[in-house]
Amino acid sequence: MKHSSALLVLALLLPQVHAHAADPKPVHISSAETAVTLAAGTDAPKILELGVNEGSVWHNQNSEPLIDHADVNGKRQAIHWTLNTGASHTKANDVMFVYESQSPHLRLSWQWIARASHGPLEHSIRIENLGDQEMWIPLQDSVRFDWRVPNKDAIEQFWVEKGAGTPSPEGTHQVSLTDGYHWTGESSTYAHPPKGQPREIIPWLLVQRSEGDRSGWYVGIEFSGRTHVTLQREGDSVRVAAGLNPSPGPFRTRLVAHGSFETPTVFLGAFRGGPDGAGNILRTWVRQVLNNPLTIRNTSYPLMVNNSWGTGMQVNEELARRMIHDSSELGLEMFHIDAGWFRGVADWYPDLKKFPHGLKPIADYAHSLGLKFGIWVDWTQAGLDRQPGSLNINDPTVRDWLVSDPPPGWKPQEFKGFTIDIGVPAAHDWAAKEVNRIVSDYSLDMLEHDGYLVAQGCDRTDHPHAPPDPAHITRFKDSGSSFVESSNSTDVSYHATRAYYDIYSRLRKQHPGLMLEICNDGGRMVDFGSAAHGDYFSITDTYDPVSNRRAFYDSSYVLPPAMLESYVEKWPVPRLENFRYMLRSGMMGWFTLMLDASQWTPEQRAAARDEFTLYKSKLRSLIREADLYHISRRPDGIQWDGMQYFDANRRNGVLFAFHGSTPDESEHAFVLRGLRADRSYKLSFHDRSSADQTMSGRDLMEKGVTVKLAAPNSSEIVFIQESRS
Ligand SMILES: [Zn+2]
Repeated sequence: MKHSSALLVLALLLPQVHAHAADPKPVHISSAETAVTLAAGTDAPKILELGVNEGSVWHNQNSEPLIDHADVNGKRQAIHWTLNTGASHTKANDVMFVYESQSPHLRLSWQWIARASHGPLEHSIRIENLGDQEMWIPLQDSVRFDWRVPNKDAIEQFWVEKGAGTPSPEGTHQVSLTDGYHWTGESSTYAHPPKGQPREIIPWLLVQRSEGDRSGWYVGIEFSGRTHVTLQREGDSVRVAAGLNPSPGPFRTRLVAHGSFETPTVFLGAFRGGPDGAGNILRTWVRQVLNNPLTIRNTSYPLMVNNSWGTGMQVNEELARRMIHDSSELGLEMFHIDAGWFRGVADWYPDLKKFPHGLKPIADYAHSLGLKFGIWVDWTQAGLDRQPGSLNINDPTVRDWLVSDPPPGWKPQEFKGFTIDIGVPAAHDWAAKEVNRIVSDYSLDMLEHDGYLVAQGCDRTDHPHAPPDPAHITRFKDSGSSFVESSNSTDVSYHATRAYYDIYSRLRKQHPGLMLEICNDGGRMVDFGSAAHGDYFSITDTYDPVSNRRAFYDSSYVLPPAMLESYVEKWPVPRLENFRYMLRSGMMGWFTLMLDASQWTPEQRAAARDEFTLYKSKLRSLIREADLYHISRRPDGIQWDGMQYFDANRRNGVLFAFHGSTPDESEHAFVLRGLRADRSYKLSFHDRSSADQTMSGRDLMEKGVTVKLAAPNSSEIVFIQESRS
């Protein structure tokens, strides 16, 4: 089966389906790499097959299971879906099959969209209540497949964890799918599973053939609420489900009269060439389709940032001015005030003891030196402050928005309060107004949100989400905040996530070009829904060189490197090599400095300036646009590790080489990828650790380039330029 981008316009007309028709005519939708064949059955739609460009075909064995009942006035009613051909459509890039039920009166739209000529296809299901009565519906998965794969075929699964608080020792997983294999990966904005349970994943997985062209498919979820992906292999069957997480259940969600429910959008893509083959398609697609063209896709991004947290909560006007001046001298491009600037939690006004003239003059000063300006806010929290504009838990209105009643004597922490449920329309409206005010009042170019914007659970019975099951409410504490979990947790997160997306979509319209940093106690909200509503991610909450490289290694398999922010914190750097190693461990994606640079020696300052110049002049465009190759094992801090960028259009790239703590290995050969075997390449060693040399693409991709570094915890940057011949 040979596909080309021409297939994109090859979609067939929707077949005329009659009550007793034989199999419906297949309908095709495709991108350059991914071709999906669909069929509108009379009572259910079906994905017939998934084709990999110039590769294998995956055949699906079952129709898409649709919800089969709804509860109306406390009575269960069976749903019988019937295809409505008139309401359905088949366009080249957009296929929608519409099913209806007369009683209860519902419409279900099953849609596939190709939003770019390359990359995955998107799929979503919308269920509308056409009647005048409220009803409750059970969980509708976003997608389900049951691929027929001969039991003898060797296939494997690949997935990555979120960097969360600290990257785990493993992070990136590749395992064989043996008979009886059964796996579930979960994602929420919390990323703290019970002890002994697996870590949360970036909601995405890949399955590939273990041999040959290592072709296969991947599926990901564009949603930050509680989701899961499951995968099982039994006999000749490989089953996959993705969507909202049904556990803890039973899940149900309210469908108000004339209201609707939409499954989290999923994307399905085909690829060849293993995880980086998939990643180089997916990362580009995320940039083109999900990212904001005014920010992260702009040619001056990603920015180099100086963050105030290096001096902690003590930030004040004098310090901020000094850091802004320093940022300008060092060649950094944005000054970012972290927590510590406000009067109190949920009282997002400058502390006049620290900032007697407010934040506006600070922003003006940054702007006068050509820097952008951003701040940290945790805008879904309530606290105890009473000044006008603050959100106080004892205000009766605010109290109704809280996810639970605070325990007696509750007090906020230094920068953590009590979460409000932004799925409540009034809470959503307050938050939308407040973030708009913050951005306007303080002349922000960037707003960082931190903390748990999407409520983990909520025990309120008068919110739009389902009420909790009173017999099964789990209450637990983490980092001083209390959480609740019950059968309604997924529905709580469904409503809160939609509200969060809506608030940020409005904010972007109000402030075009505003950058939105997604931080959720570090890297707990690293997913494709946030990628569509924010600009860059804090990928972990642990900032030493190895943690930064590990979190980058994992998340860069699926997300554009330009979005992946590493905070670089103070670390022991007895030698200048160690200093560069520390900086460069955060320079493969979005770089944010988070240490007190006034403590640096003149040599360190000069070295830092050189590194920042290098980033802006040569690394940044590769980080933004080039293909990425994971050319070493995941960093362990002991052995060597490295990453390679290569831009096939501009025919140049770079190798980041890191020598871990071992004194025993003074050299390492990095086998490069993505080059042309029949071309030659000039290699330039930025630190002059070796003389420049020219090698053939074949040798570089078979034997590799040898980097020699004697000192432990050191690094080299090797530029790769295709020779003109
Ligand atoms: Zn609630």
